[in-house]
Amino acid sequence: MLTDLHVHLRRDDLDRTAADHFTAENAERYVTTARERGVGYLGVSEHVYRFRQGLSIWDHPFWRENAQDDLEAYCAFVRDETELRLGIEADFVPGREDRTANLLDEHDFDYVLGSIHFLGDRAVDIRGEWDIWSGRADPDAVWRRYFETLGEAARSGLFDVLSHPDLVKVWGGGAPRPGGDLRRFYDLAMDGIAESDVAIEVSTAGLRKPVREIYPAPAFLAMCLEAGRPVALSSDAHVAGDLAYGYDRAAELLQSHGVERIATFDRRSRALEPLG
Ligand SMILES: [Zn+2]
Ligand SMILES: [Zn+2]
Repeated sequence: MLTDLHVHLRRDDLDRTAADHFTAENAERYVTTARERGVGYLGVSEHVYRFRQGLSIWDHPFWRENAQDDLEAYCAFVRDETELRLGIEADFVPGREDRTANLLDEHDFDYVLGSIHFLGDRAVDIRGEWDIWSGRADPDAVWRRYFETLGEAARSGLFDVLSHPDLVKVWGGGAPRPGGDLRRFYDLAMDGIAESDVAIEVSTAGLRKPVREIYPAPAFLAMCLEAGRPVALSSDAHVAGDLAYGYDRAAELLQSHGVERIATFDRRSRALEPLG
C-alpha cells in the first residue's frame, strides 16, 4: 500500500475560486494519477484557513485574505462527488485549542492533519509580509519555538497526523539556520510526541522546496519511531502531477529505518497497512 493523505485540490493562489478546483474533473485527475502511481489510499486535505469558518479559530490578516471558501460545501463535494477520503490541514494555534476542536468535531473528517505554519503572527514557510525571517530573527530562537510548539500540537490531541514535522527548515540556505547537531531542537518536541497518539508525516514536499529534503530529517524520524509513533506517507501535492512525488526516495528512507507499515484513516480511526 502507498498512501497520499496530504493533497490539495486547491492551489495557493488567491485569484482562482473554489469553483475552479472543486470539480469532479479535477478530482478525477488526482484519482487517475494516484492509480497510475500505485497509490491505494488517496485523501484531500485543504487548509483550514481557506475556509470562512476557519476565522472562528483565528482572524490573522493572512487568514482573512485566504478565507474564501465554504467548509460545508467542501465536505459535501468530497463526500458526494469524489472517491477521495475527506481530510483537512488544520493549523495548530496555541490558545485556540477549544475553538479548533469545535470546528473539527462538527465534521466527519477521515483524518485531521496538524500543521505549524505560524509562530505567533509570523509565517514559517510563507515569504512576504508575514515572513518570520524578514526581520532579524535569531535562528536558534525560531527553531526552539517551532519544535516546542510542535510538541504542544502533538500533546493537544487535536490531530491524527503531524504534517511536514520539521517545516522550519523549508528555505534551506535561503534563511538563517542553526549550526551543529539539530537533535537538540527535535528533543524539544519529543515529550509531547511520545505522550501522544499522533502519526508522523513523512512528506516529500520538502524535495520540491528550496531545502530539497524530505520532512522530517532522518534523525528526527528515528526519534519519532523510537517513541513508537506510526508514519503517514504523503506528497502535499497541489496539482495532480505532484501526487506521490519522490516516493522512491521516501520508500528508501522508510526502509532504511525499518518502517514496514504506514497509516490510513477512516472517520478518524487509524489502521496500519503494509508499505509497498
Ligand atoms: Zn502545510
Ligand atoms: Zn499542505
